[in-house]
Amino acid sequence: MPTPTKKRRRTKEERPGARKKAPHPIVGKEFNYVLQLTAEDTARLARYRDVLAQGAAGFAETTYNYLFDNPDIADVMYAYERQGGNIGELVRGHLQHQLDLLSGEIDDKATARSEELGRSHFRLGVKPVWSIGAYRLFLEHLQGLIATNPQIAHDDRDALESALVKMVFRDLAITSEAYWRAAVEQLTDQRDELGFEQNLAGELLSNIPQLLWTVDIESNRISYASPGTRAFCTEPLDAPIPCLYRIPGSERQRVLTAWQQVIDGESVQLEVRLAPQEDGDRWFRMAFYPMANRRGRVLRVHCMMEDVTELHSDRERLEQLSTQDEVTGLPNRTLWYDRLGSALAVARRNPGASVAVMVLDINQFKMYNDSLGHQAGDQLLSQIGQRLQKVLRDTDTLARLGGDEFGIVLPMVQDAEKAAERVVREVITSLAAPFSYQKKDLCLSTTIGIAVYPQHGEEAHTLASHADSAMYRAKWNTVPYLFYESESAESASEHLQFSGQLHGALERQEFELYYQPKVDLASGQICGAEALLRWKHPQQGLVLPKRFIPVAEQLGMISPITDWVLHTALEQSKHWSANSAPMSISINVSARSFQSPGLVGRIAKALRRAGVKGSHLEVEITEGTLMADLEEAARTLSKLNELGVSIAIDDFGTGYSSLSYLKSLPIDTLKIDQSFLQGMANNPKDVAIVRSIIELGHNLDCKVVAEGVEGEAVRQQLQELGCDLVQGFHISEPLPDAVFREWLSHLPH
Ligand code: C2E
Ligand code: CA
Ligand code: CA
Repeated sequence: MPTPTKKRRRTKEERPGARKKAPHPIVGKEFNYVLQLTAEDTARLARYRDVLAQGAAGFAETTYNYLFDNPDIADVMYAYERQGGNIGELVRGHLQHQLDLLSGEIDDKATARSEELGRSHFRLGVKPVWSIGAYRLFLEHLQGLIATNPQIAHDDRDALESALVKMVFRDLAITSEAYWRAAVEQLTDQRDELGFEQNLAGELLSNIPQLLWTVDIESNRISYASPGTRAFCTEPLDAPIPCLYRIPGSERQRVLTAWQQVIDGESVQLEVRLAPQEDGDRWFRMAFYPMANRRGRVLRVHCMMEDVTELHSDRERLEQLSTQDEVTGLPNRTLWYDRLGSALAVARRNPGASVAVMVLDINQFKMYNDSLGHQAGDQLLSQIGQRLQKVLRDTDTLARLGGDEFGIVLPMVQDAEKAAERVVREVITSLAAPFSYQKKDLCLSTTIGIAVYPQHGEEAHTLASHADSAMYRAKWNTVPYLFYESESAESASEHLQFSGQLHGALERQEFELYYQPKVDLASGQICGAEALLRWKHPQQGLVLPKRFIPVAEQLGMISPITDWVLHTALEQSKHWSANSAPMSISINVSARSFQSPGLVGRIAKALRRAGVKGSHLEVEITEGTLMADLEEAARTLSKLNELGVSIAIDDFGTGYSSLSYLKSLPIDTLKIDQSFLQGMANNPKDVAIVRSIIELGHNLDCKVVAEGVEGEAVRQQLQELGCDLVQGFHISEPLPDAVFREWLSHLPH
């Protein structure tokens, strides 16, 4: 007969470690003793067998109806039929079994048949009480027959009935015992299988690296903890996180928040750092899975934890790779933008806060990289990175943007322009000392463009591109740094306009020189003048040099203009005299013309043509001009020095704070930048700067000129500070040649 369970179970032999049980016979000595079934009984039954078997067919019908009258029994029968069983055969088989009892057979074969019947009842789900009911029907039917059938002798009737009862009891006992044994066997099998599966699961759980545990929410107890969990958590297991004591305080809150989420029914995953052990920080991934009942109430939470330290550090390494510049180890452009974005986000939330964005270009890098090779270039970049990093705070971001370009973000500074200027000076100083590569000294300078949030833009990209354009403008103007100027877009169109008109301006004689005198503070005498160029523009009138000189430089027209200035200034000044003392003339030479080859030759020629000595002339150049190519500049200066021409450093104090170059160059004069003079009246810091420039100049054997002196108070202050010369509106505005000569002639003798 087929078994009611559809799933195929493993046989005991397939299972490792399955025990083989010796079958224990149901019928033992005590069995027959208890039933007191004797040979006489069985012989009597055998004798009347045929009589008792009368009417069996009708009885089968009764049994059949009995079975199907009960809906529970009918269900089992139909299930049997669905599994391919034949109910007719079943009933016939049952009847046959009962008839067999009547032959009084109690040998092993008969016992085995009864046993099999009991087992099959168990398999089919036939309840014991149903077969007891069937036996009762059977007995009733036979008792009637025994009492009435004339073929049974009167004297035999009681004994026959007693034998029949014993025989039926015997069969009931055997089938029940077999039924029960089948049930026990099935249970044992299931238990073995379960045990086997449990062993497998246990083996698995103690060998996988993941820690697993289950928390019963009602009692907040850990209802299961895998062997790994127990091994990992040496302290008594705490619910709900057995190793919460290992999670540092800062991380603990995150875990507890996640736990709250899981109790609300969400699956949660998170990564936490565990308190450092001998091998450093370890990272664990935790996952919580809620098991809810149908109404959505979470009853249990299954938890998993695994060590992901390796993964974590791989990921960190990857992140670093994608945001780090390999040559310098600094953040790359991506990370720089990212930090800029965050700094802007913070600044937007803090009224009054600002952010300065700087772009630095290393001026001589390309030359070194090309001449000494990439290895030298890389080394240089990384040394530059290190020096720059030292002048910045931890909260600032220094990045290599690519090539020889670096970027700086100064977040949350209250007065970003001031802060940026301070940083710029420190940056320039930090790069002033020569770099060394294979025992060679390499000198570098940088040009910096600065844009400030919110004045120059709101967005990271806008600010970065403004800083970039400011940097290019600074390069053009050969100044070390410039802030972004919004009108530079406007001035770009002026550039365009001027560029057409500048051509031929020389030939059309549209230039004129104005002269501004310099006074010797000690003697009060006029001792020289500076030539300042003006353009008599046909439409715009007098145009100041700041507007057209950059255009002339850009158009490559500056050298002929310088030559004209040189020639004109020498010609006009050679006839001047103030109090019959000799007067020198200063001319401004911009970076481009200073660097143009043959400048010294042209100056020598101009001096010869004018018939004046070199000492009559002073050349003013800015620090930026010097630093753009220090070596070449040094050569030019020494040649000028040989001619007797003096050299003044113009706008001193605004450019490179590096002073080391000054002592090695033949410089005669420092001109303190006007901005310090104008601030002197009310800013003690400016006084301090002026004082130290004067001191520095004197230590270097230079004369110090203060230009842009507009009032008597400053003049006096300068005199007290020991300044040598002053120049400014306080003495005179720049004047055209004729007016200047007139002015000189009216000086008190
Ligand atoms: P700089 O060489 O620093 O010249 C001094 C500037 O300060 C001049 O402006 C002058 O007019 C102005 N100044 C003089 N005294 C005072 C004062 O008391 N108060 C104030 N606020 N300003 C005063 P300018 O003439 O407009 O020249 C501007 C710049 O143009 C010069 O600055 C110089 O760098 C450049 N420049 C002038 N002439 C030439 C030239 O012939 N060739 C070249 N390459 N550049 C020139
Ligand atoms: Ca000047
Ligand atoms: Ca100046």
